[in-house]
Amino acid sequence: MLLPENTVWLGFIGSLIAGSMTGVGALGVFFIRRLSTSLEDILLSAAAGVMLAASIFSLLLPGIEEASAQGFNASGSVIIVLSGMMLGAAALAIIYRCTPHQHFRKPFPDSDSKALKRIWLFVLAIALHNFPEGMAVGVGFAKGDLENGLTLTLGIGLQNIPEGLAVAISLLAVGYRSAYAFSVAFLTGLIEPVGGLFGAALVSISQPLLPWVLGGAAGAMLFVISDEIIPQTHNRGHEGLATFSLLGGFAVMMYLDTVFA
Ligand SMILES: [Zn+2]
Repeated sequence: MLLPENTVWLGFIGSLIAGSMTGVGALGVFFIRRLSTSLEDILLSAAAGVMLAASIFSLLLPGIEEASAQGFNASGSVIIVLSGMMLGAAALAIIYRCTPHQHFRKPFPDSDSKALKRIWLFVLAIALHNFPEGMAVGVGFAKGDLENGLTLTLGIGLQNIPEGLAVAISLLAVGYRSAYAFSVAFLTGLIEPVGGLFGAALVSISQPLLPWVLGGAAGAMLFVISDEIIPQTHNRGHEGLATFSLLGGFAVMMYLDTVFA
């Protein structure tokens, strides 16, 4: 059990570490010039699989446990977490509808200015989805459970590596220099500690909010997986590869969560 006054800091630092892994992935831009569409679909699907398992095993199930520990019966606990989940998904749906972003996909090389616009909207989409990821890590620590927080840091950090690489390579593809592409990708990862601080602070203000916030972070991630990543990794002819990469990512995170948390 962690002291409540430390959980906000741990949540911030954990989400900062996880977010920095985006920069580790983006370092690849100094070694690789381009990614094939199949490799990109594999990498982003694996990231989605990790996010999916993290939503279930690190957020929804602990959220239900937390609600029961607060005295709710089985049905009440599930309904609380599900309500948080729906609210989280709805919040992200509204943010996505109001933000002009490009779905997770490389730009078509149509006109230069169009390709540029697409790529920046893609960067924005990745940056946006890092907020609930950071929140997930922050809330994991805010629960007062160090193992859960560390597992989320590791899992979310892992799936940020391919995401950072995808962003940086896409910027390179439209003509930006490697150092610039790396810096922008790294910056998208720094959205995570903002989400982490937000989630951890929310829970430290009110412990009864915890099952709601755990559900909310899961709902926001599930929204991104279904609305962005699955459709976009299944429309270029690599559906089988994408599905099994998602399952692979899911397996890795399920293993981490079961063995270490
Ligand atoms: Zn992600």
